[in-house]
Amino acid sequence: MLSEKKITIAVDGYSSCGKSTLAKALAGSLGYLFIDSGAMYRGVTLYCMRSGLIENGVLQKEAIENALNEIELHFEYNPETDISELILNGENVEHQIRMPNVAANVSKVAAIKSVRHKLVEEQRKIGANGGIVMDGRDIGSVVFPNAELKLFVTAAPEIRAQRRKDELESKGVQITLDEVIANLMERDLIDSTREESPLIQVEDAIVIDTSYLTREEQLKQALELVNQVTLQN
Ligand code: C5P
Repeated sequence: MLSEKKITIAVDGYSSCGKSTLAKALAGSLGYLFIDSGAMYRGVTLYCMRSGLIENGVLQKEAIENALNEIELHFEYNPETDISELILNGENVEHQIRMPNVAANVSKVAAIKSVRHKLVEEQRKIGANGGIVMDGRDIGSVVFPNAELKLFVTAAPEIRAQRRKDELESKGVQITLDEVIANLMERDLIDSTREESPLIQVEDAIVIDTSYLTREEQLKQALELVNQVTLQN
């Protein structure tokens, strides 16, 4: 039996390890809010691209910093897709933020200190009352360092690449495996070596390797951990 106490669950890991899938399933089973923090970094990136602040992979850092107060992001639940979709300045951009051109720039935008400060503040507000599963890169280390449960999701590189390729193809994007691998490797490198809140596996995080687990098995493992934590609290 799961306890009634609503905890905070941080799910971190590299790109395409299955973090969002697990986090979403976990939130669904617990009746918690699910927040994909990567969508917020993607939303800022899309705004900057549309405003001409990123061209050919080159960022106008100062102009991006000045534009941050023009960006309003929130999520709206769509019962048809069962997804909390990202709204950027009133426009639903859930589809656009998943495209490879956004993926190609997002890690560079996410390395900008003031971008992180803005989004971390918003993420903390969203999660202020607990009962939330948030996935990202710095959730257990920076956003919710006191989260009752911290998961670090991993998967074998070839499995990650194939998953991302399948996901993009399901959205109508044709892409080669090599292109996917190049983007994942670039993002891994930038995300784990940036100065501001790099992706790390915090000491108190529990690793879930999703490589050879079905979605049901991953969820079962995670729910057992939730149960242990809630019994302790
Ligand atoms: O999770 P997703 O792959 O959609 O995240 C896109 C990018 O956003 C990551 O590659 C990373 O650069 C950035 N990100 C971040 N911190 C988070 C979530 C995402 O830096 N908490």
